[in-house]
Amino acid sequence: MADLNTEVRYLKGIGEKKAQALNKLGVFSLRDLVSFFPRRYEDRSVCKPIALTVGGESVCVEAMVADTPRLTRVRRGLDLVKLRAVDDSGSLDITFFNQPYAKDNLHRGETYVFYGRIEVNGVRRGMVNPVYERSEGPRTVTGRILPVYRIAAGLNQRSMLSAVRQGLDACLDELPDVLPHDVRERCKLAQTAYAYENIHFPADYTALELARRRLIFEELFVLACALGRMRGERTREHGIQMRSGNMDRFWTALPFSPTGAQRRAVEEALANMDSGMVMNRLVQGDVGSGKTLVAAALIWHCAENGHCSAFMAPTEILAEQHCRTLTDLLGPLGLRVGRLTGSMSAKEKREVKAALKAGQLDLIIGTHALFSQDVEYERLALVVTDEQHRFGVGQRSALIGKGQRPHVLVMSATPIPRTLALIIYGDLDVSVIDELPPGRQKVDTFSVDESYRERLNGFIRKLVSEGRQVFVVCPMVEENEDLPMPLKNAQEHAAELARVFPDLRVGCIHGRMKAREKDAVMASMLAGETDILVATTVIEVGVDVPNAALMIVENAERFGLSQLHQLRGRVGRGRHKSWCILVSDNDGEENRARLSIMTKTNDGFRIAEEDLRLRGPGDFFGSRQHGLPEMHVADLGADVNVLQRAQQEATLLLAADPGLILPEHADLRESVEHMLNSGADSFN
Ligand code: ADP
Ligand code: MG
Repeated sequence: MADLNTEVRYLKGIGEKKAQALNKLGVFSLRDLVSFFPRRYEDRSVCKPIALTVGGESVCVEAMVADTPRLTRVRRGLDLVKLRAVDDSGSLDITFFNQPYAKDNLHRGETYVFYGRIEVNGVRRGMVNPVYERSEGPRTVTGRILPVYRIAAGLNQRSMLSAVRQGLDACLDELPDVLPHDVRERCKLAQTAYAYENIHFPADYTALELARRRLIFEELFVLACALGRMRGERTREHGIQMRSGNMDRFWTALPFSPTGAQRRAVEEALANMDSGMVMNRLVQGDVGSGKTLVAAALIWHCAENGHCSAFMAPTEILAEQHCRTLTDLLGPLGLRVGRLTGSMSAKEKREVKAALKAGQLDLIIGTHALFSQDVEYERLALVVTDEQHRFGVGQRSALIGKGQRPHVLVMSATPIPRTLALIIYGDLDVSVIDELPPGRQKVDTFSVDESYRERLNGFIRKLVSEGRQVFVVCPMVEENEDLPMPLKNAQEHAAELARVFPDLRVGCIHGRMKAREKDAVMASMLAGETDILVATTVIEVGVDVPNAALMIVENAERFGLSQLHQLRGRVGRGRHKSWCILVSDNDGEENRARLSIMTKTNDGFRIAEEDLRLRGPGDFFGSRQHGLPEMHVADLGADVNVLQRAQQEATLLLAADPGLILPEHADLRESVEHMLNSGADSFN
């Protein structure tokens, strides 16, 4: 007997090759298979009279073959079968390309259901390569709402349908119900078996909606339980207690006075650290709001208490940059600062690790290398991670495993509308830095199209001649994408700019380069040895080049607003007047409206709110900058209401059973753990 864990290759019709193709889609067991939901559906449930069909629509018609199908060989490799089908209302010309067997399958005088796209030619209607089956007898591909799956090479829709059907038949009754009975009742949700059956093979649209609602709720409920449980476990944990001290020596040593928002964030964090409970705090602040200073204050506080801190950055470039700033800030106060990154020599790494283990450092700054197994910490009390959207929920929990329950401070520059922050950061307390340091100048932003190219080049020339540097960002070109228009590719665009400006130093940096190469390019930009740096979004996070005064974003329509805002934050970081120019040839109203928001405000929170209003939260969630595990059915953006309901129910449930240890929550606990683990793999 097959069960949920049976491998798909044991299904009828699924041989070695098809099984491998399914594996590529992440489908290994029957459980995976029945959880592999359709991408979309085709409505083949009702037949339309031919006369009522319109050009371009995909429909079913029920019609009789009116003449004997004719096979013609147009040339080698091109066979045509033509026939005419009629119903009471009209007639349809049907053509099959390279399906000679259609001639023998379809018989004059018999009635079939054809499904295909209607093409209109003058007064005649036609269909090319329709799907068909006898209108009497068992119907499998017409007469219903048919699921359409994402497939991989080696698979087709028919084999997917058959595999899923078999999977459902074998184990529909074994699927665990992760929703507690009373939650399901209260929220009026369908049962598991019904939901799985109807998400694949909906009886009708009402059934499909019920199935979807149930599965979306389930997924979001599991997510909310996962986040809630992480938060619950940590806030109840005892942490390293700090003696509250006087911060004055730190504040007075600074080259500037902190903003009110910075002070507030520091105070909130200190209250956590001095409480005896463990801190899990997110500091959210727009680019340039001075989050590093908040971290520095806490690091200093730990050092005063005789403890060491670790500061993790997502890239080597950023680790180095933070190392410089924090050494400048904290060195004069007597703190010993070290660095640990993947590209250091074995000897350097050995030395730093030895110093760490011996307790000779107050602060270590690095990349993921900080959390590799052989790094031992002496008195580690604080872990700071920068730009948190680069790290997943799972990674967040892995990193906390080091040391004895260190306090955790996460810094994020992704402004998130407040309505969503609670859900996304369900496991963290949040401080918001909503004030920029004084004297910050606004980055003037313009949105232009291709016709401005020459003027734009003139502007680059002018700024570079004044000694400034320029960033040009091109969209990431993903493979397997049907792109409607040519997109600027970083390398090609750099070559183009080198032709236009033969006397200028043009560099290029993109994600496929080795870390070492990227560092070299960035170092050259920082040293002022590159005039124009063409980049993909690898430069989006935190890099600080104070001399850069112009940010050009090519194909700006390809970027989310929050991302554009991040990119713009790369300039205007020094004392020079700075500009951001968004180039887009997309005249769509929506695109123009989006880009014009960028030209009107520099406030990241407002931009996020506008983005939310214009496009729904899908853009934010879609870009997967949130570090949450991937959702299968739920659209974190579109399903916000369900998300809130699921969150409420999860909170109730966790209040009653925080560890999900009650036997009736065993299936739920398993799903929660599964989600947390999958969250960890999808980010690296
Ligand atoms: P982000 O929040 O983007 O990480 P940073 O911490 O890098 O911002 O700070 C941006 C710049 O602002 C740095 O050059 C920093 O020295 C400066 N800065 C931070 N706080 C203040 C302040 N209170 N007054 C003046 N300048 C500040
Ligand atoms: Mg920063």
